[in-house]
Amino acid sequence: MADPRGFLTTPQQHPERRPVTERVQDWKEVYKPGGLLPIISKQAGRCMDCGIPFCHNGCPLGNIIPEWNDLVWKGDWEGASERLHATNNFPEFTGRLCPAPCETACVLGINQPPVTIKNVEVAIIDRAWEDGTVKPLPPERLSGRTVAVIGSGPSGLAAAQQLTRAGHTVAVYERADRIGGLLRYGIPEFKMEKRHLNRRIEQMRAEGTKFRPGMHIGVDLTGDALLARYDAIVLAVGSTKARDLEVPGRDLAGVHQAMDYLPYANKTCEGDYLTAPIDAFGKHVVVIGGGDTGADCLGTATRQGAASVTQLEIMPRPTDERPGHQPWPTYPMIFRVSSAHEENGERVYAVSTTEFVGDDNGRVQALKLTEVRFEGGRPVPVEGTEREIPADLVLLAMGFVGPERGNGLIDQLGLALDERGNIARDAEYATNVPGVFVAGDAGRGQSLIVWAIAEGRSAASSVDAYLSGASTLPKPIPPTARQVTV
Ligand SMILES: Cc1cc2nc3c(=O)[nH]c(=O)nc-3n(C[C@H](O)[C@H](O)[C@H](O)COP(=O)(O)OP(=O)(O)OC[C@H]3O[C@@H](n4cnc5c(N)ncnc54)[C@H](O)[C@@H]3O)c2cc1C
Ligand code: SF4
Repeated sequence: MADPRGFLTTPQQHPERRPVTERVQDWKEVYKPGGLLPIISKQAGRCMDCGIPFCHNGCPLGNIIPEWNDLVWKGDWEGASERLHATNNFPEFTGRLCPAPCETACVLGINQPPVTIKNVEVAIIDRAWEDGTVKPLPPERLSGRTVAVIGSGPSGLAAAQQLTRAGHTVAVYERADRIGGLLRYGIPEFKMEKRHLNRRIEQMRAEGTKFRPGMHIGVDLTGDALLARYDAIVLAVGSTKARDLEVPGRDLAGVHQAMDYLPYANKTCEGDYLTAPIDAFGKHVVVIGGGDTGADCLGTATRQGAASVTQLEIMPRPTDERPGHQPWPTYPMIFRVSSAHEENGERVYAVSTTEFVGDDNGRVQALKLTEVRFEGGRPVPVEGTEREIPADLVLLAMGFVGPERGNGLIDQLGLALDERGNIARDAEYATNVPGVFVAGDAGRGQSLIVWAIAEGRSAASSVDAYLSGASTLPKPIPPTARQVTV
């Protein structure tokens, strides 16, 4: 156990974020560099090494959290890194980006602020990279079997790394010009600097994984060609079909899907553009959707110099504390303030957009909305509350409804879909086509990085067993596992 009295003597402490006035001038991560190491050992010491560590249940990866808390408290950083990597290929991604369901499940959280598990995780991995203990782990021998992974987001990368290390020859195909999926084009630099991603890709290359960016499977290479060329295929194509808002004025210039906007900002940070082709400078920006993608639009528009940013959400404002009907250890719906919300913008709840209003040139200039109340779970407009707000740039961030159709891949391979439009799979992550497996958001629906990594690891185990007859690769979750919510 870490410090036996730590949870009694040490209050919860987070590292400091850089001042808002400073950080909105650049795209670097919001935390002060080096702010974590001086506090983290004592924070890890708050862990009670519970008899039944519910943090394990909160995390789909099954991270062995009490063990690494103990090792950090004792100063054994290399041991902590080894334990961390036993269950997670990419702790620097989850340590920065995960909403940390492990923390809402932490037993200490019943009557105190929980252990800051995610901060311990990121401190371990950042230090491991600095100390040079993260090394490529190439396989000792090759199996002679080949695997194509389609999609290079966290699920595809996790599956590829596991299968490469198991000795299979793996190529990752990605339609975008760079590898990384939403980690690359979606998640802004200020949440995770891409150098962390680049470093992992280099490690994977050194282990033997091949990367093929700029290859749109279904278009540049057909499903049949792929089946003929590889012994197994892992589809990790994400849930990229965005939910739309069919109201009058939807086709006006200046109304965009969030995922048409955010990748341009990522590409500008990469040096591809001087100014993003869709840019918020000087504009009144309205983001429709109160979730994380919306917050990413907010933070991006702030850094681009928007005149104002308003984030609209159809649901009522959540409560600040856990509501009684969402008790520990569930992942609760509470009012969360992301770094982007701290910086700028107004959040408006319980409103619905009824129309986009254009100018004479067909450009959006305003948005009409109405307040709503909920009756039988459905939003109903409140009479007399309709109003208009200025909007020169509207960003739709209302979630995703499944993998894209119409690019040939699903039809070419003859894949069955489930009732929600995701690629159907059995308990082994296998689709209806022999040798073709599916992992991540493409099979699960829109989710989180931690679930994508857990799925990639689990699918890799199934693929390994399919190719080799049996597998010793870990399989943290079945495809049906879900977050504990109410
Ligand atoms: C803006 C945004 C911010 C987010 N922020 C967070 C966060 O902070 N924390 C968190 O936990 N989760 C976050 N998420 C969710 C998280 O990013 C996803 O759940 C996760 O990336 C899913 O991983 P994946 O590997 O299944 O798919 P993706 O990351 O979506 O990757 C799929 C890849 O497949 C490629 N592809 C698709 N079709 C083809 C084809 N036919 N041929 C070749 N390539 C193809 C796509 O180009 C894409 O690169 C966010 C999502 C969005 C949209
Ligand atoms: S539930 Fe919290 S206190 Fe208990 S072992 Fe896990 S991190 Fe430590």
